[in-house]
Amino acid sequence: MDLNLPVDVTLQPGTLAFLESVPKKLLIGREWVEAASGETFATINPATGEELARVALAGAEDVDRAVAAARSAFESGPWSTMSGEQRGYLLWKLADLVEAHADELAELDTLDNGKPLRVSRKGDLPQAVRHFRYYAGLAGKIQGSTIPVSLPDLFVYTLREPMGVAGLIIPWNFPLLMAAWKLAPALAAGNTAILKPAEETPLSALLLGDLILQAGFPAGVVNILTGPGLPTGAAIVSHVGVDKVAFTGSTLVGREIMKNAALSNLKRVSLELGGKSPNVIFADADLPKAIKGANWAVFSTAGQECVAGSRLFIERPVYDQVLEGLASEAQRIRVGNGFTPGVHIGPLVSETQLERVMGYLEVGRQGRAEILTGGVRLGGELAGGYFLSPTIFTHQDDSQPLVQEEIFGPVVAATAFDDWQELVERANRTRYGLAAGVWTRDVSKAHRFAQAVRAGTVWINCYGLFDPAAPFGGYKESGFGREMGQEALELFTQTKTVWVGL
Ligand code: NDP
Repeated sequence: MDLNLPVDVTLQPGTLAFLESVPKKLLIGREWVEAASGETFATINPATGEELARVALAGAEDVDRAVAAARSAFESGPWSTMSGEQRGYLLWKLADLVEAHADELAELDTLDNGKPLRVSRKGDLPQAVRHFRYYAGLAGKIQGSTIPVSLPDLFVYTLREPMGVAGLIIPWNFPLLMAAWKLAPALAAGNTAILKPAEETPLSALLLGDLILQAGFPAGVVNILTGPGLPTGAAIVSHVGVDKVAFTGSTLVGREIMKNAALSNLKRVSLELGGKSPNVIFADADLPKAIKGANWAVFSTAGQECVAGSRLFIERPVYDQVLEGLASEAQRIRVGNGFTPGVHIGPLVSETQLERVMGYLEVGRQGRAEILTGGVRLGGELAGGYFLSPTIFTHQDDSQPLVQEEIFGPVVAATAFDDWQELVERANRTRYGLAAGVWTRDVSKAHRFAQAVRAGTVWINCYGLFDPAAPFGGYKESGFGREMGQEALELFTQTKTVWVGL
């Protein structure tokens, strides 16, 4: 999410005629193939509830085929002997192709996920391109070190080698960008990959598959399997031919993945999981900026973001003022079809997700919490889709599910705090630790909070900013391993130590 995105940019959607030409099959080797079972599933437009396309549903047999292709590409053939620099060229070429097809890819993400076209085109797409370019640059710079040891007449050095076949399982909230987050470092490091997009949003990954072929990646280096968590995702995780799984999604599924990875072949796992991020506004903050920031921190992407600032802590003296500002900002948000110019946020991704979020609203209402604004499913011309108005809860108890569980919808629980000790304790009273925000003009207070909060990312006087160079990942049950930056390469390489007797 880019706070600097101009909200008045409008883009003209194309005819979407190209939707017909997007592959709907599985990419295995360099071939687009039907699922062995012949099964398909529907991908739905969340803005209308209508079916967009039917896509091949990969089962265990298809996973076997993809693993065989990926294994063979890893062990023999051009990829296995390619230099890092050459892998970098291919990634750069892919970045150029993604950039050239940014309009189509953005439209596919808006169709499948519902997010405003402005956000897909001006936010997600450039970020995805940057990811491919960043890791294209790093591909030739992955190096070990020489190790001084205490024994005489020895020369010891390390090599950083790829893991092998990497299973990349991604969610639906940033479909193309998540594919780039995972594919770029995995390929830069020399792994081969099996990418499984979320069943809700397979389309941009499939078009990306075509671009990967055009870029000239050798057969089997990237395989794309569409299908649900069960059976497709689970079969990848349990396959003994997969060496590494990188996953983004819920903590619940992350737990399952870790268990199944352990039970199969102890494959390496990195998990980027849920969050319930505290966002803190001190009384000395630039309040108009903080209010806008807090509003965007939770409501952009309709709250369907792992880092959503869904617990808002406001220092008591400015509590009423901030709430008033926040409510007025929330009421100004235009919710609608992502293709309608001027829309700020789109629908929830699916009916299931809408029902889940509405369930939390109901639980909140039944507790002592009060809805300050929002909490309504939108009807009229939006009735066919899964639209919910931005919702602010107040007066909830910290122990309520509203405050403790990841809702993944446009819902914030706002609360007042009185002192530092209380703030730090309450901000950290969650099983999650993905991100946090703090708004203050006091530099030392900001840094003290950044140190006190148990979270993998802290934003001071800004929120939700990402860059391929800046590592990202969780504390506690928000997962482990750092994506992005040079640290992501550690997720996809292993160290070999070589001893040379002189
Ligand atoms: P999941 O965690 O279920 O899905 C994420 C990915 O994992 C999808 O590709 C999914 O497949 C796949 N998957 C599901 N089950 C398994 C399994 N047993 N083995 C391997 N892969 C599996 O998220 P949901 O879409 O169900 O969303 C539910 C909640 O998860 C949200 O409300 C939100 O709280 C959280 N979430 C968090 C995200 C984050 O970025 N931290 C992103 C998305 C969701 P498929 O979807 O195709 O079934």
